[in-house]
Amino acid sequence: MVFAALVIVVSGVAPSAGTPMFDVIVCGAGPAGAIAATVLARGGARVLMVDRARFPRPKLCGDTVNPGACAILERLGLLAPIVPRALPIDGMIVSGKGECA
Ligand SMILES: Cc1cc2nc3c(=O)[nH]c(=O)nc-3n(C[C@H](O)[C@H](O)[C@H](O)COP(=O)(O)OP(=O)(O)OC[C@H]3O[C@@H](n4cnc5c(N)ncnc54)[C@H](O)[C@@H]3O)c2cc1C
Repeated sequence: MVFAALVIVVSGVAPSAGTPMFDVIVCGAGPAGAIAATVLARGGARVLMVDRARFPRPKLCGDTVNPGACAILERLGLLAPIVPRALPIDGMIVSGKGECA
């Protein structure tokens, strides 16, 4: 699993209010952007997350949350709501062009 999102640190000041409207803009609300925005917001940053798609968006996915992703979600306290809806798997076979791995 590879994650990527663009995180912009905002240094501008809103002309009317005199205080920054957002500290950070996160572009892309996939797993990378969502995790980045969560961590930043929990750290006290005012975060705006934007995505070109309207959610829920169509997304090709095998629906597997692997052990590495589970560990990240658990560390963030986000795993518990997922577990009751999940089916555990013991392993997987990846195949293509007549070969298996
Ligand atoms: C067919 C397929 C099946 C997969 N199955 C699994 C699986 O079972 N388990 C697993 O762990 N991983 C799976 N993956 C991999 C997983 O989808 C990626 O690792 C993961 O989505 C990457 O997260 P991300 O946040 O980096 O990117 P994305 O999930 O792609 O999110 C990027 C977001 O940025 C938005 N964006 C892009 N450009 C702009 C822009 N210019 N302005 C604003 N927003 C923009 C997009 O709309 C999108 O919402 C699968 C991938 C594919 C292709």
